Amino acid sequence: MAAALVFRLHDGGPELLRQVLLERGWEEHHAGRRGQEDWNLYWRGADFPISEYRNLMPWQRLNHHPQSVGVTRKDRLERNLRRMRATFGSSLYDFSPAAFILPNDFTRFLAEYYKPRLQGTPPLFWICKPVGLSRGRGIFIFEKVRDLLYDCAVIVQKYISEPLLISGYKFDLRIYVCVKSFHPLIVYIHQEGLVRFATEKYSQSSLQNPYIHLTNASINKLGPFYHATKDGVGRGCKWTLSKFRHFLHSQNINELLLWQRISNIVTLTLLTIAPSGPACHNCVELLGFDILLDVTFKPWLLEVNHNPALNPDCPADLAVKKKLIGDLIDLMSYTCTDHLRGGALLPKVSSHTLPRIQTRPEKSIQNKSSCHRHHRCLPPVHLDRTSRLISATSETLHPIMGPHSRTIRSVSEVTHSQSEDELSDVPSTLPDTSWRGQGLRCPDVTWRLPDITHSVTVPSTGQAANISANANSLHLLSANARQEDSFVSRFKVVQTPLQGHAPPPPLRVGDFIRTFPFNMATLKASRRQLDLKAVMREIRKLTRQLDASQSTTMGPDISDKQEDLDSLLWGPKDPPLLRHCFKA
Ligand code: ADP
Repeated sequence: MAAALVFRLHDGGPELLRQVLLERGWEEHHAGRRGQEDWNLYWRGADFPISEYRNLMPWQRLNHHPQSVGVTRKDRLERNLRRMRATFGSSLYDFSPAAFILPNDFTRFLAEYYKPRLQGTPPLFWICKPVGLSRGRGIFIFEKVRDLLYDCAVIVQKYISEPLLISGYKFDLRIYVCVKSFHPLIVYIHQEGLVRFATEKYSQSSLQNPYIHLTNASINKLGPFYHATKDGVGRGCKWTLSKFRHFLHSQNINELLLWQRISNIVTLTLLTIAPSGPACHNCVELLGFDILLDVTFKPWLLEVNHNPALNPDCPADLAVKKKLIGDLIDLMSYTCTDHLRGGALLPKVSSHTLPRIQTRPEKSIQNKSSCHRHHRCLPPVHLDRTSRLISATSETLHPIMGPHSRTIRSVSEVTHSQSEDELSDVPSTLPDTSWRGQGLRCPDVTWRLPDITHSVTVPSTGQAANISANANSLHLLSANARQEDSFVSRFKVVQTPLQGHAPPPPLRVGDFIRTFPFNMATLKASRRQLDLKAVMREIRKLTRQLDASQSTTMGPDISDKQEDLDSLLWGPKDPPLLRHCFKA
């Protein structure tokens, strides 16, 4: 019997993670009882010191990539988005509210602040956020510049003052994203996520009330109406994404376009940092993307969380996070050789530590099964390892191979949150900046938002949309009416090695849907050095297809010659293939 995999949690780690790993038969690493390198997963809330990446063994995984901070710190994210906007045009990168990093950008901020006053249009609202804090700490909303007081580096963003509301309550979406690798870029989005509500009805008049304007659970848990049963929302402040999806259906809203736009936001955001930083194939990164929908259903990126909370606060949290963690572990693609941790079934040592594993012990293990050679360097990526996973999870796969009538869970099946609150082998390379300064000027493509609402009343300017959660008309999308065998055959096509190269990573692992690369062109563009220009071209194409699909209802009978869009659409529970949804 193979030895158990071993996890190491820094500072106690998230309890739910421990629970899931123990339930899967993992063992916890306790310093002194096991050798220093006798572990398979090291989980930390904060970043790892760079030495951890350098000393990583082939059987070990870390839960952070070295370069993620480029999107997870509010000021760095803004700088990176600006750079991409300058290079690729603001029509693609139009998904984050205009922002200024203070104190540096103060003059630019003032120019923007006075614009409406000079133009005679209504003044804007602004939101000020400390760049180094999270969970709503230190955030305030203001209208007059005299109210802008700060004593640390902050970011001031245009406040989305007309958010989409559900029964009068503001909400945002927590989308869980796993970056399996930056080199090549491989991204998965989890189908399940959270909707986080403010706990007092939205109004633009009381800017100081955090329970109206902020959707952080850590804040709303402390509000007076947290435990109250709120009209259309229920008790607490969270829904699962499934419940939200069900709600969208009840409103006759075509959700496919929404998910694809959010998926594009995730890809475009990660592309800001993907070309730089070292390759580290033994790392995964779980990121929490916070997305706010405005009254026109346009998704806005608010921020990217480096260390999304994994501890459950309420039933919705538990339902989402437990599955999320399990799927994340599956995505780490452990193999039987990882169980060996550099030797044959290492015995547990109780009173002394194991001798240090040697830097180059390949001689000693040459004859032992198929163990990796133990160079102290980051191992090459093995896309085929992840491909194997998909067959190992045939049970998980089965639902998407089933008949394609969309199975929308009934309200009673959807998690109820009303009763409680919830939640290359080279170690490193110099940053690849080769794409910079090439003056990539792309023609302006309108990132037009298709009208994805059919029955939602959008109130007049100055009011936020307020959707009644009681509407009951279910709109089943015809895109799902495809046949099982046709999917299976397509899946096989996807798994076939391309022109002698490794096959693409699996379309899905558990409820994680691969969203990048999303077609053959992006797969090729990301194989070696990321060809940003080519990727942007594909995203533009997809965006145009999105726009085109606004007026066309795509059915399952779309030509199968469109090999290009063979990814699944992230979002729906039984995701259709992109090519079945969007015109090529
Ligand atoms: P934190 O890291 O402190 O959670 P966020 O950027 O996520 O900071 O902001 C906290 C909350 O404030 C969000 O969940 C959202 O409800 C609200 N918020 C943040 N930025 C905006 C914005 N530009 N417009 C409207 N609401 C915002």
